[in-house]
Order: sequence, then structure tokens, then C-alpha cells
Amino acid sequence: MTPQRLEIFREVARAQDHPSAEQVYKRVKPKMPNISLDTVYRTLATFEQCGLLSKLIVFEDHTRFDPNTSAHHHMVCTECRKVYDFSWPVFEKLELPRRARGWGIINDRQVQLMGLCKECLNRRERKDK
Ligand SMILES: [Zn+2]
Ligand SMILES: [Zn+2]
Repeated sequence: MTPQRLEIFREVARAQDHPSAEQVYKRVKPKMPNISLDTVYRTLATFEQCGLLSKLIVFEDHTRFDPNTSAHHHMVCTECRKVYDFSWPVFEKLELPRRARGWGIINDRQVQLMGLCKECLNRRERKDK
């Protein structure tokens, strides 16, 4: 683990917002001015391969990284693009539909809820008045 990698890891691990590589880069840059976006990309890809992070493809344009590798689901705000975690133990225990059971081996199941977060809803309401 190089100091740069360590710093990148720390930044992602404490992030609550499922940052993109660009966001991680912006946060690490003030502490490590010599770091390049390319290094951040490569480091995140390595962490993902090692299972330290999981990749989340929410929007076509940006892959987001998630320090939480345990079973959980996501709520995605389509306006501010923030991604929130939630757990749903009942869903994880639900029996799969027959078509899904016959499909192959299921290793993971995730729910992605898309919508507007409260902050964005409030902002819209204020605009309407
Ligand atoms: Zn929002
Ligand atoms: Zn998550």
C-alpha cells in the first residue's frame, strides 16, 4: 500500500455519498497535489478487484464507488444524484421468482430505488411558491 493508495482508500471509506472517481480525486488532491486522476482511477479499480470496494453503476456517465461491501440497497436521487444506503433484510430472505431461480446462480441481489430525495423535494416546493 503506497501513501497515495492509502489516502484514496481513506477518502472513499469515510465518504457517505458513493463518490465517483472524479469526486475522490478532488478530495485527495489538496492533500496530495501530485496525484493524477489516472492514478485515482487505477487505484479504485484495484481496490474493486480486491473486494475492498464495490462498483455501482447508477448513471451512465459515472461509476460510483461504495465502501460498504456488505448486503445493502440504494436510494438514488435523480436530481442531485446522491446515493443513499438502506438495508432490507426481509427482501434478502424472499424466495426468488421461478424464472430467476431457473436462470443460473444468484450471488447477489440489490434493489435500486430511483426518485427525489427530501432536500430536492423541498427545493422544488420553495421554487413553486
Ligand atoms: Zn436530491
Ligand atoms: Zn451503498
